[in-house]
Amino acid sequence: MASAAPPAPLRVRFCPSPTGNPHVGLVRTALFNWAYARHTGGSLVFRIEDTDAARDSEESYEQLLDSFRWLGIDWDEGPEAGGPHAPYRQSQRMDIYADVARRLQDAGHAYRCYCTAAELEERREQARAAGRPSGYDGHCRELTAEQVAAYEAEGRTSIVRFRMPDETITFTDLVRGELAFAPENVTDYGIVRANGAPLYTLVNPVDDALMEITHVLRGEDLLSSTPRQIALYRALIDLGVAKRVPDFGHLPYVMGEGNKKLSKRDPQASLNLYRERGFLPEGLINYLSLLGWSLSADRDVFTREELVAAFDITDVVPNPARFDLKKAEAINADHIRMLDVKDFAERCTPWLRAPHAPWPAEAFDADAFAAVAPLAQTRLTVLSDITANVDFLFLDEPVSDEKSWDKAMKPGQPGAADLLRTARAKLAAAEWAAEPLKEAVLAAGEEHGLKLGKAQAPVRVAVTGRTVGLPLFESLEVLGRERTLARVDAALARLAAEQG
Ligand code: GLU
Ligand code: ZN
Repeated sequence: MASAAPPAPLRVRFCPSPTGNPHVGLVRTALFNWAYARHTGGSLVFRIEDTDAARDSEESYEQLLDSFRWLGIDWDEGPEAGGPHAPYRQSQRMDIYADVARRLQDAGHAYRCYCTAAELEERREQARAAGRPSGYDGHCRELTAEQVAAYEAEGRTSIVRFRMPDETITFTDLVRGELAFAPENVTDYGIVRANGAPLYTLVNPVDDALMEITHVLRGEDLLSSTPRQIALYRALIDLGVAKRVPDFGHLPYVMGEGNKKLSKRDPQASLNLYRERGFLPEGLINYLSLLGWSLSADRDVFTREELVAAFDITDVVPNPARFDLKKAEAINADHIRMLDVKDFAERCTPWLRAPHAPWPAEAFDADAFAAVAPLAQTRLTVLSDITANVDFLFLDEPVSDEKSWDKAMKPGQPGAADLLRTARAKLAAAEWAAEPLKEAVLAAGEEHGLKLGKAQAPVRVAVTGRTVGLPLFESLEVLGRERTLARVDAALARLAAEQG
């Protein structure tokens, strides 16, 4: 149907509760809202749903802000950004909710319910036994003034309940299409506790209305609350609090190990884990955007700009997405390779210092690191891998990894010591650059009937402590003649002691 009014500018929101550490499900929801806002030129509102004083914490609030800043998910209105609908923390909006709750009651959209928990439970049991729907039965819908007075005189407390209309609620979900909820399955529900504390069921749609949210994109776990919220919206329109019912899109579940829903408590779900391992924000964003969406059938790796250019909520699929750590790592590795090498070196900085790096700060040599950075860049899955790749440059002695030693030095066989002695002599005589150093080890190998691969293994373990690492001859060039030869000598001494 053509409408005369121009479409309202898009406004989406993400509204976490500050409880615990941010998890990937939350980030995926924030990301899709962000991408949709940026794609459409709309606004992203960041709201903090901190009405549960017992569970919310200031520390978690700070972590949320810090995490989204790190990810580069920026918001147009919200904490620190401010905006026309401030404050954006629900704990600072309590008088708004009290006012709306009172007006809903005055207009007959809500009422006081005096039923005790035991009474509700008993009637629920009876309904179940009789095969009837077991939601709230409307007991207090039409209490007379006398009944109310009698309950009050008994000293009963009351909650505020929203009155659901006796009609099927239908809406077109942006991800799932047409949905319908019959009234017997969506019964009157609490919006304010007996102690006066407003519930999520009230504060979330009230704020969405006041903040003029046009599209609610959130997890599938909240789908059952949507018909209730739509009915509440209609009541808010009646009161003049809301202008319209927003569109809804419910994002698919994310499945973890064993095809179970990834839970907040699952260690794999913690955003901090990925951050501490050295995922790039762009790698993580790329991967998380694939949980329910795709850029195209044949491309898994793309930039933030490409995501924004292509993202449309109607392309999100309803079937559950599987969280695949291996794929996340592979995508991250690709993003590491895509960095400009200077940028790459800068991003490695935290892992080149205590507490990540085992060498003292003064042992770090920026020039040496810059020389090997391009070699390392193609080998990392996560940034934290950098430490082990370059530690041979900054530690006084190479790490002692007994497995590597045993593998390359083959105890009991004279081969490694002989090879190392020959290689040492040839290295000592070589010009100190990667190519001649390689020639030297190649020639040493030939004298002992060994191919380059076999010949360089003992040299690598003598110098770096490990059987695997950066390309060896470039590494030796950067490490320098003196230190290289001293390490080969130390390995020869150890071999002599072991065989003596
Ligand atoms: N604070 C709610 C949550 O964290 C927000 C739900 C919604 O997006 O409506 O689950
Ligand atoms: Zn009641």
